Parts: sequence; structure tokens; C-alpha cells
Amino acid sequence: MYDVVIIGAGMAGLTAGIYLARAGKKVVLFESGAIGGQIITAPKLENWPGNMGISGADLMKKIYAQATELGVNVKYEEVEKIEKKDDAFLVITDDGEYTALTVIIATGTVPRRLSEKQTKDAGKRAISYCATCDGALYKDKPVVVVGSGNTAKQEMDYLGGIASKVYHIHHDDPIPEDAEAVFVAIGRLPATKVVSELVELSQDGYVIAGEDCKTSCPGVFVAGDCRTKSTRQLVTAAGDAAVAAGAVIEFLNSK
Ligand SMILES: Cc1cc2nc3c(=O)[nH]c(=O)nc-3n(C[C@H](O)[C@H](O)[C@H](O)COP(=O)(O)OP(=O)(O)OC[C@H]3O[C@@H](n4cnc5c(N)ncnc54)[C@H](O)[C@@H]3O)c2cc1C
Repeated sequence: MYDVVIIGAGMAGLTAGIYLARAGKKVVLFESGAIGGQIITAPKLENWPGNMGISGADLMKKIYAQATELGVNVKYEEVEKIEKKDDAFLVITDDGEYTALTVIIATGTVPRRLSEKQTKDAGKRAISYCATCDGALYKDKPVVVVGSGNTAKQEMDYLGGIASKVYHIHHDDPIPEDAEAVFVAIGRLPATKVVSELVELSQDGYVIAGEDCKTSCPGVFVAGDCRTKSTRQLVTAAGDAAVAAGAVIEFLNSK
């Protein structure tokens, strides 16, 4: 029996793990994708205090090392279901079943997919959601970036140093004929399907919780980008994690 199961090894999940391991709690953390979460694709962080210009991947490597050194047990498994069982939770992953007294949801967000129309338009051309990951494959070739926010601008800047031409189009514009790859940056959606029967979600799919990070289900807490909030950044994910860890400790002590 674990004291706490954390779902997601991004900034929120790893930071919560650090706080809880330091408090002597038995922690297991599940990650279905890449350790470090969405920030690992960012080549340079401008607004992470104390380390201007560090890459997202380097920052998260350090945080992962800190968490595991402190005793957080990280498992590469996807959480598929969580059921409340009396005073505990049964967590079912793609590789096993675990029980825990509390749960922290730190599943973050995933990129919003290209529209059906543009996917059809792209035909057999490559569709990528990460210029840092796939940009090098299109050296001296024309590419197109779809999107209008900051991330789209960052993707264009990055590809500008690699591709022969970078087109910029908006959601649902036609895709230029000569573009060989389509880089999509049209926002993100909460990765909360797995907890949709356990806790209340907002209309747009975020886990409903205030600054105390408590969800509608006692014993289940939320931290990071998957929570209802106005600012989704590394510092707010880390801040939530500290609050959620404190709430877990309080909950466990009250038992
Ligand atoms: C390109 C880009 C650049 C950015 N630049 C900055 C910046 O400069 N400064 C800044 O402060 N913020 C930046 N952000 C925002 C920042 O990355 C996020 O606010 C932060 O990383 C959120 O962390 P998180 O832990 O909440 O979620 P995530 O990083 O999304 O982590 C969630 C983790 O949960 C895992 N997961 C999900 N579902 C399951 C499941 N069922 N089972 C197991 N694991 C699961 C996912 O695989 C993922 O690893 C940027 C974001 C992007 C995309």
C-alpha cells in the first residue's frame, strides 16, 4: 500500500514527489510518455527563475534526478483507471494494479490536434506537434506552421533556422502545396479522460479545484496544468505541487 500515487512526471508530478518523499511518505509516480512532461521540447526557458536560458530537458533531468535520489519510485506505466475502494484507491495501469491512500493528478495537457479539414488537406505529408523534435528532418525544405499564439511563433523562429521556407497559416486555412511538413501549434487540451469518472471536471475538461488543489473526491488532489486556473506555467505547476503535497500530508495525518 502506497501513501500516494502521483500520475504524471512533469513539473507538477515530480515536484510533488520531492515534497512527499522528503516528508517520509511512500510515493509511486507513473509516467506514460517522456519524463519531464511537455516542457522537454522547449529549447530555452526565459521565465524560470534563477536559470535563464536553460533548456526544458536539462531542467527536468535535474528535477528527475532529485526526485529519484530522494526515493520517489518512478514507473513507466500508463494509468488507465482509478477506483475508490473503501478508504483507499485502486490504481490500474497498463502493467499492474496498485493501492494507495491518496492520489495526485498531475497529467498536464496534450497538443490540440489538427482539424479534420487540414488533416485531409495535409494528405501524406508529415504532421508534427514539436519543431524541436522533428524540425531537423526538414533541413532546406519548405514547411508550414499552423497556429497564432506564442508557441506558433516559437516554432516558426526555430524552423526559420532550418527550413528553406516557413509558411504561417491559421486554423482551417488551406495548406500550401509545396510545404513538406505541417507543424501544428494550435493550443493544448487537458489530459484528464482517465480521471473523468473520479473527480469533477470543468466544461472544457480541467479538474475543478481551487488554490488548495483539493478535488471533488476526498483523498484526490490535483496539481499543474490539468487544474482549473488562469496561468499555466512551470512556476504555477511547481506551486500547485507544493500545495497538493501539503494537503496529502494533512489528509494522511487526519486518518
Ligand atoms: C513549447 C512549450 C514551451 C513552454 N515554455 C515555458 C516557459 O518558458 N516557461 C514556463 O514557465 N512554462 C512554459 N511552458 C508551459 C509549461 O511547460 C507547463 O506549464 C508545465 O510544464 C506543466 O507541467 P505539468 O506537470 O502540469 O504537466 P505536463 O508537463 O504536461 O506533464 C504531465 C505528464 O503526465 C503524463 N501523463 C498524462 N496522463 C497520464 C497517464 N494516464 N498515466 C501516466 N502518465 C500520464 C504525461 O505524459 C506528462 O509527462 C511551455 C509549454 C510548451 C508546450
